Amino acid sequence: MTLAYVQTPQSARSRSERMLMSGSVLAVVAILAIVTSLLIREYGNATDSAVRSANNVVQLIDADVQRNADLYDTSLLGMIATWQQPEVLSISAALRQQVMFDRSTAAPYKGDLVVLDETGTIVADSVSVIPREDNFSDLASFAGHREDPSLALRVGGPFKARWGFKDWRISFSRRIPSPDGRFVGIVAASMRLAYFHRLFRGLDVGQKGTINLITADGIMLAREPEQTVRTYIGQDFSQRANFQRILKEVNGSFSAISDLDGQRRMYTFSRVGDLPLIVVIAQSQDEVYALWRHNALLVMGATGLLCLGILWLSWLLSKQLRLRHLAERELAELAATDGLTGLANRRRLDMVFKQEWARSIRSDRPISVLMIDVDHFKAFNDRHGHHGGDIALRNVAKTLETCIRRPGDVAARYGGEEFLVVLPETDLPGARLLAEQIRKAIEAIPPLNQDGQPLTVSIGVASAQPKAGDQQAQLFAEADQALYHAKRKGRNRVEHIGEGTSASA
Ligand code: GH3
Ligand code: MG
Ligand code: MG
Repeated sequence: MTLAYVQTPQSARSRSERMLMSGSVLAVVAILAIVTSLLIREYGNATDSAVRSANNVVQLIDADVQRNADLYDTSLLGMIATWQQPEVLSISAALRQQVMFDRSTAAPYKGDLVVLDETGTIVADSVSVIPREDNFSDLASFAGHREDPSLALRVGGPFKARWGFKDWRISFSRRIPSPDGRFVGIVAASMRLAYFHRLFRGLDVGQKGTINLITADGIMLAREPEQTVRTYIGQDFSQRANFQRILKEVNGSFSAISDLDGQRRMYTFSRVGDLPLIVVIAQSQDEVYALWRHNALLVMGATGLLCLGILWLSWLLSKQLRLRHLAERELAELAATDGLTGLANRRRLDMVFKQEWARSIRSDRPISVLMIDVDHFKAFNDRHGHHGGDIALRNVAKTLETCIRRPGDVAARYGGEEFLVVLPETDLPGARLLAEQIRKAIEAIPPLNQDGQPLTVSIGVASAQPKAGDQQAQLFAEADQALYHAKRKGRNRVEHIGEGTSASA
């Protein structure tokens, strides 16, 4: 028997639960996607801002170093111009020194200024009227000027000063050409590397960041903070992978593992003006993304909790929904079931019959009903008591359920000791056949006690091929009438309304 009118609660339940769960999963996925994209954007912003601030530092160093280099260069050009005056050699040594170096630079951390002749011997010296006796022909920059006819400024070093503080220095030098262009010596000035340390110390590149100044040949000139254990000053970095990339690209920024300390660093670098110098800011990646990482952890933690909360609430809600649906289903069952026999009650019967009647009209198929009444039940009650009567009614109900087998068939308790069976798509002969089976099956139910008589039923059968506009009550009335005939003809029989009343089975 199918409870066709009860809305399929199982499917309704699972559909709403599925919708709730998939809705919340979708919401969680959307939240995660939004948060992830925001974090990715913030990561990009952190990178941009680190590169921007490193670039600012680079620009600052660039401007300061370029300004100082210009000061040195102005001095060198002045010295060359003076040295090339023929009268210079004829004046006294003291006057010559004054003339040569009076215009010399007041640049900070200025070292000595010298004029070397074509053999590398000092011929004019800013610190001594009688030039110190020394020869610099072994210096790379001296050899460079000698071999290279270019008159451009050359930056050399770093090297340790031979005199004075004996500290690290770099040199600025220019070639002195004779009127016909021959090499006649160089002018050179040295600059103490302490200048770079002072300049770099005031700049903020983070606690683990470093500022490096390298020559275009890859020689480290200055580095801040200075290494206490070992110094990198003067070392050749031209063979190290990161520096090779820096030397090749000259300006830019990239992230890589440092060859020196194995940390991931963000390198931002630029050439200093048109000098053969490159400033490299190596920021610690840890520091660059520290704030981002902190915020990301907070946001991810909060988002994770939010998502878990949403899923948990949805789960609770779907559990409640399931319980509610179950309760509704039970209520619906109760409202449609006869309490004593468990068969469909009158209410459900009316609904099922209405549906089947409409279906019969649509499909142009017959529909039959069996009206069943227990014979002499009053007397049965008197013999066996009301309780015995109830047991008998349950037995009849059970027998009815075992006799009807088609999914569309419905047995219902019509009232008191009367039952009604609806048989969709069943014609009169088929209905009579089933009625007879039912009659026999009930007659075969064992009596309640030894001397008891078997329980019997009378059955009125009615069948119709309904058309639109036909009255449903007519079929019930016919079945009722047939039942009346069955009673009248002696009970324990099946009757239907036909020509000249009926024929018993
Ligand atoms: P017949 O139908 O053969 O003409 O005789 P009857 O004695 O069955 O007829 P009637 O309709 O007069 O009696 C029906 C009796 O069924 C009345 C009542 O005592 C009994 N009855 C109705 N409902 C119940 C019930 O739920 N439990 C019990 N035990 N008896 C019921
Ligand atoms: Mg009756
Ligand atoms: Mg009866």
